Amino acid sequence: MQDHVTPRRVVILGGGFAGLFAARALRRSPVAVTVVDRRAHHLFQPLLYQCASGILSEGQIAQPLRTVLRRHHNVSCLLAEATDVDVEARLVHARRPDGGAVELPYDDLIVGVGMRQSYFGHDEFAAHAPGMKTLNDALDIRRRIYQAFEMAETAADARERQQWLTFALVGGGPTGVELAGQIREIAGHTLDREFRTIDSAHARVLLFEGADEVLGAFGRPLAHRAARTLRSLGVELHLGTKVTDVDAHGLTVQDQDGATTRFEARTVLWTAGVEAPPIAAALARATGATQDRAGRIVVEPDLTVPGHPEIRITGDVMSLNKLPGLAEVAMQSGAYAGRVVRHAVEGRTKQPKPFRYWDLGSAAYISRGRAVVKAGPLHLSGAIGWLVWLFIHLAFLTGFRSRLGAVLSWSVAFATSSRRERAFTLSDAGADAGRGEGAPAGPAPVQKAPPPPP
Ligand SMILES: Cc1cc2nc3c(=O)[nH]c(=O)nc-3n(C[C@H](O)[C@H](O)[C@H](O)COP(=O)(O)OP(=O)(O)OC[C@H]3O[C@@H](n4cnc5c(N)ncnc54)[C@H](O)[C@@H]3O)c2cc1C
Repeated sequence: MQDHVTPRRVVILGGGFAGLFAARALRRSPVAVTVVDRRAHHLFQPLLYQCASGILSEGQIAQPLRTVLRRHHNVSCLLAEATDVDVEARLVHARRPDGGAVELPYDDLIVGVGMRQSYFGHDEFAAHAPGMKTLNDALDIRRRIYQAFEMAETAADARERQQWLTFALVGGGPTGVELAGQIREIAGHTLDREFRTIDSAHARVLLFEGADEVLGAFGRPLAHRAARTLRSLGVELHLGTKVTDVDAHGLTVQDQDGATTRFEARTVLWTAGVEAPPIAAALARATGATQDRAGRIVVEPDLTVPGHPEIRITGDVMSLNKLPGLAEVAMQSGAYAGRVVRHAVEGRTKQPKPFRYWDLGSAAYISRGRAVVKAGPLHLSGAIGWLVWLFIHLAFLTGFRSRLGAVLSWSVAFATSSRRERAFTLSDAGADAGRGEGAPAGPAPVQKAPPPPP
């Protein structure tokens, strides 16, 4: 007779790197796993900027979670946003996209909800300076970049044209650096000879960073090399600056002496700072856990929440020994959490060893053929750095089709400077682009059509 014992229920919040690796570690366990995510896809965030700049399509960096986990017969996926946790009843409260409430009972809870963009208390900046954390963000940025050149082509006067041809990036970490390099490449190569009234190569790219170097996490020698490469590409670096205001026409920054300067730029992109999503605060309230300044949950060495051996925090949202927010940390901590649950199910009574992170290094792409890589004592830059970057990203890109497609797209982009993924649709705000805030209602002023091509 068949035994109808209910399998142990494992709920995983988040289908990012941490959640995915936790689910994979439980593949052969007699447990019932539910992966809850407010998006239906697993996103390869490290390549978001390539989607934003038109090299890769959204399908090449995002795979349906169901597809990724289709061979994991003990895993089901649920499209819903976790809103709260009842730790007494061991229930996750979630909301489906249609607003319907869902309750998910668990025996083990693994949390891997990642982090979201932070505007350091200035959420009003978000309307003018999108961050880059989601697929929507990347598509919005792609639209803003390519639309800016279109708007410059038909600008009313030289000042407006220059505003459209000025791109400001806030944050000198890998994402800001990667985007800055991409926009200079688009301006100088991809759009070469496509416009009739503007010279796209004259586009200015300004990069603002609060510290006195970009890519500080890579150490001084690589940071210097990255700054040199960026300057050679024409990126204007404004180091030691703090952004104090952003609006539809530009931004104001303050330098270390307190002097403020206004820069006119119709495209401002924000890549500085992260904060935990609201579910982290809800969980901290429910468990009494401590959060760090960015809202990450402070965990024990075995990734559990103090006093709650059934709840483990993984990935970016976990605070442990100042581990950085890197894909590799998320993968290893997710896999560890899954493994510990598997061992418990298998009846292993030995106390799990504390989580140990194996630092495999980090990499940032600057421009075609140029990247920086730091892996232990190994510090690489230039073409060799780029080859290593290529290998790492191919190795981790999820799914065979994504890998093959990425190789083809990179080959085309590398050989010809062209970008296949440049299509964008106008948002409601986009349809009004150029009118700016506070402009009078009614039809936009009629402008002269650009002169016919010679
Ligand atoms: C633009 C960019 C570039 C990066 N480049 C690199 C790089 O080059 N190298 C590197 O190592 N790292 C890089 N990172 C960092 C890396 O992507 C993260 O460290 C990693 O994605 C963290 O994985 P995670 O699973 O913790 O979170 P995420 O990958 O962010 O996944 C979290 C998941 O949780 C879901 N979620 C959030 N809240 C809820 C909720 N309440 N209910 C249900 N689901 C929820 C989200 O939808 C998401 O799918 C980059 C990040 C960004 C944004």
